[in-house]
Amino acid sequence: MVEKHRHCINCGISIPPNEYFCSKKCEIEFNSRRRKAMMFQWILFGLLFFVFMILLFASAKS
Ligand SMILES: [Zn+2]
Repeated sequence: MVEKHRHCINCGISIPPNEYFCSKKCEIEFNSRRRKAMMFQWILFGLLFFVFMILLFASAKS
């Protein structure tokens, strides 16, 4: 089954099948949101790594 239209990946409204966004504004909005999400993921990863290192050092001492 082939869909005859897509949905804007930012706001979800119907758009032509060869487009990803309904407007330039949505594209910019989506990219900045994705950047923020990626940054958050890296911060989370960094924190997990930090906690892991602390646990590693704490267990190595005893
Ligand atoms: Zn949109």
